Amino acid sequence: AEKIRIGILGYGNLGKGVELAIRQNPDMELAAFFTRRAPEALKTQSPDVPVYNVKDAISKKDDIDVMILCGGSATDLPVQSPEYAKYFNIVDSFDTHAKIPEHFANVDASAKEGGHVAFISVGWDPGMFSLQRLIGNCILPNGKDYTFWGRGVSQGHSDAIRRIKGVKDGKQYTVPVPAALEKVRAGENPELTTREKHTRECYVVAEEGADLARIENEIKTMPNYFADYDTTVHFISQEELDRDHSGIPHGGFVIRTGTTGADTKQMIEYSLKLGSNPEFTSSVIVAYARAAYKMAQEGITGAKTVFDVAPTYLSPLSAEEQRKNLL
Ligand code: NDP
Repeated sequence: AEKIRIGILGYGNLGKGVELAIRQNPDMELAAFFTRRAPEALKTQSPDVPVYNVKDAISKKDDIDVMILCGGSATDLPVQSPEYAKYFNIVDSFDTHAKIPEHFANVDASAKEGGHVAFISVGWDPGMFSLQRLIGNCILPNGKDYTFWGRGVSQGHSDAIRRIKGVKDGKQYTVPVPAALEKVRAGENPELTTREKHTRECYVVAEEGADLARIENEIKTMPNYFADYDTTVHFISQEELDRDHSGIPHGGFVIRTGTTGADTKQMIEYSLKLGSNPEFTSSVIVAYARAAYKMAQEGITGAKTVFDVAPTYLSPLSAEEQRKNLL
C-alpha cells in the first residue's frame, strides 16, 4: 500500500519527536521538513529528507498527505494552523486551554474552505487526558474529576524563572501532593485548593555574585506562576543542572471517582509516566495524523479534536485485525 506522506512544519522539540515517531510507524514516511529558519542551517537526524523554508510549503501541497504543525502555542499555532489548514490536512498540539474554542473556530473555517481535515490540540493534555476526562464523565455521571500533573518539567515555569535578573539557567518541576492523591484514590471526594494539589520545585543556576535571597523571594511570590503554590528553590551549579536535569520528563493522573446504584464506589484512573514529554506528545500526534489521513479519504472536512475520532481510525491495523487482537 501507499505510505502516508508526512510533512513536519517547525523543528523544535516536537518536530524532532515526530521525526522519531514516524520511524516506528511503517505505514508512514517523512516527506519533508519546513522551517522559518534558513533550511541549510537545520541539522535534522534524517539526512535524506529535504528541508524547505515555510514559504515553499504551499508549492509542495500535492506531495504531503498530512502536515504536522510543531510550532509553539503562544504565537505560532494561532497563525500557522488556520493558514496551513487551507492547503493541507493538519495536526497541531495547541495547548492554551482557555483559547481552544477560538482556535477551533478559526481552523474550522479554513479547513472547510480548503476541504481538509484539521486536528487541533492533540497530545496528552489537551489530548489523551481530555479523552479520559470525557469518558469518565460519561461512565460515572454521578462523580468528580481530578487531574494531577507531574512529576515533570513545566517549560513555561522554567522560562519564567530564567527571566529573573541574576538567573543564568533553571528548571521547574510540577509535583503532585501525595496526600491529596491518596485522599482522591480513597474515594473521599475532597475539595482541593491549588496549593493542596501540587508543589513546585525549582533548580536554579545563579549568576556569580547574585543576591540569592532576592531571587528566591522573586520566584516564590511570582503571581500566577508560583505565588499560589508551596515552592522550593534549590541553587545548584550549571554542571549539576546539565547532569541531573537535562531531560524533559512529565506525566500525571486523570481520576474520576463516582458512585453507582446505592452509593457503590467506583473509580477510574489513567496515568502517564513519560520519560520525554515531547517524544510522547509526538507519538500521539502521529497516530492522529493517520486518523486525519483516513478521515480525509472519506471526504470528511473541518476542524476536529480527539473527541471526534473513532479509535479504529488511529490504528494501522485493519478493523478485522483490531477486533481479533485487541478487543
Ligand atoms: P519549541 O520551542 O522547541 O519549538 C517551537 C518552534 O520554535 C519550532 O517549531 C521551531 O520553528 C522554532 N524553534 C525551535 N528551536 C529553535 C531554535 N533553536 N532556534 C530558533 N527557532 C527554534 O517548542 P516544543 O516543540 O517544545 O513545543 C511546541 C508546542 O507544543 C508548545 O508550545 C506546547 O504548547 C505544545 N505542547 C502540547 C502538548 C500537549 O499535550 N497538547 C504537550 C507538549 C507540548 P521553526 O523551525 O519554524 O523555526
